[in-house]
Amino acid sequence: MPKTEYCWTCDSDHPHRKLEGPEESWLKERLGRASVHEFLVCLAPKCRNLRTGSNKKPFPDAMRLPHFD
Ligand SMILES: [Zn+2]
Repeated sequence: MPKTEYCWTCDSDHPHRKLEGPEESWLKERLGRASVHEFLVCLAPKCRNLRTGSNKKPFPDAMRLPHFD
């Protein structure tokens, strides 16, 4: 269920959702972590920036989720 959160790259509030299977796998590998359940992806058109539920800017630069088919 999408949840409205602030996105610092959009500089406004947008719906975000949790990551799905291949997206979680990608981020786990990228971060070298066993769990990435706290991450949310911005659903604004062409954004896909990642944040966590509590941290609007968990990385120094934007980290955008790739598309997985
Ligand atoms: Zn955004």
